[in-house]
Amino acid sequence: MAENIRVRFAPSPTGPLHVGGLRTALFNYLFAKQGGGTFILRIEDTDKKRKVDGAEEYIINALKWCGVSADESVIAGGDAGPYRQSERNQLYKKHLQTLIDKGFAYYAFDSEEALDHHREDHQKKGKTFIYNWHNRLKLKNSISLSKEKTQELLNGAEPYVVRFKCPENQTIKTTDLIRGFVEVESSLLDDKILYKSDGTPTYHLANVIDDHLMKISHVIRGEEWLPSLALHCLLYEAFGWKKPLFAHIPLILSPSGKGKLSKRSGEKAGVPVYPMAWGKESKINGYKEEGILPEALINFMAMLGWGPGNEKELYTLEELVKDFDISKISSAGAQFDFEKLKWFNLKHLQKKSGEELLELLISFGCNTKGLSKEKSIEILNAAKERSNTLKDLWGVCCCFYEPPKTYDEKDRKKAISKNTKVVLESLLEMLGSLDSEDAENIRARIHKFCEDASKGEENIKMREIMMPLRMAMVGSLSGLDIGFIISSVGIKESCNRISGFIKTL
Ligand code: GLU
Repeated sequence: MAENIRVRFAPSPTGPLHVGGLRTALFNYLFAKQGGGTFILRIEDTDKKRKVDGAEEYIINALKWCGVSADESVIAGGDAGPYRQSERNQLYKKHLQTLIDKGFAYYAFDSEEALDHHREDHQKKGKTFIYNWHNRLKLKNSISLSKEKTQELLNGAEPYVVRFKCPENQTIKTTDLIRGFVEVESSLLDDKILYKSDGTPTYHLANVIDDHLMKISHVIRGEEWLPSLALHCLLYEAFGWKKPLFAHIPLILSPSGKGKLSKRSGEKAGVPVYPMAWGKESKINGYKEEGILPEALINFMAMLGWGPGNEKELYTLEELVKDFDISKISSAGAQFDFEKLKWFNLKHLQKKSGEELLELLISFGCNTKGLSKEKSIEILNAAKERSNTLKDLWGVCCCFYEPPKTYDEKDRKKAISKNTKVVLESLLEMLGSLDSEDAENIRARIHKFCEDASKGEENIKMREIMMPLRMAMVGSLSGLDIGFIISSVGIKESCNRISGFIKTL
């Protein structure tokens, strides 16, 4: 590509990074990397009231965890900084003044009460109040007031905002890379506030100025900003700046397909909406804590609303960079399916070696110290075939490292019969007499034990032995081969577990 690609992800630190934001960041990243361009992270923190402590840090860490790190940011630095909008106010003021001087923006002194009054008044007449060409002359601003009066108000303590003077009759025509041709009549737009009475810019002003100064070539952002596109185009025109190209990506829909995936709709469906845990006292878990691998999350997110146009679904980040094609992003919302994410995770887990899995489990907080590294690797290689998440993987493996803490109630009911106690006691005796801890040997001896029992007077079935044995060793009826478990934890520990289970009968 001839053009120098520069894209940005521009979150507002009003809370943790939502997975929708993560996908926006990812699409920007993929687009930049594919074109040999630059991916910028800009913190849009001009709204002091909505700023949340720790959110900026969270966003940076979550992106880092996912491997979607920025080339230019508050951390990485860069020539187009500062990368935090709260540190760029002088730039906004300077460019705002240009707009005012050229007659594209004006001071407005209307109080909140006065505006409320107009709104109510219009409502009573069945109309909607819009602050624009239609009524700006009737309102209190530097267009309706004389120069002297305006200056007097500006010199005094009168609070004011600066509004964009939206043209009365202009058809704004532009093209979105995903949606195609977009046309908006300026007469329908309001004179948006560009600069607030608290001395800070609004999103629109800061965003356009920064995209220009940071030489952004493509703006790839969420669909919720599509209604702002016309205003942004007008702002570029007013400044006399070349517009970047725009791509508005579709919403992520809730698991039910109704409405967008929000914190609430996610909660309702038992689906996390954050990459990692958020909050101190009342911590909300994210995908990391669910045991989802970042590469699986990224793979899944990329497939939400985008596809390569063939059967391929499993991707590494590098492969995504290679195959990503912005024109293949769908304009329809994409439904969030946690089960599908788990499938992606299973596939990415299966690609890991036992050694890698061991490291992952350790950093997941699992205590694997009880067994040698070689043994752990053997266990993990056997367990990875059936684990969707690291949580599941540990669920399958923890019985190798610690006795069951609880016994699954439902399974317990299924496992216990009138013969359980007698069976387990003679099994204890048999195991105690073994002189080899070899899995093969244990398996053979248990098999023989079952065979003998079935021939006895009580005609004890195999399941009457195997189920309580598994309950004692694992705490539930699931898990890996029982001979392998007993051999790995050792005869002594196995006998302890069986005795422990007998006591609960
Ligand atoms: N600060 C905006 C947000 O949080 C950025 C929108 C944009 O990318 O232009 O969504």
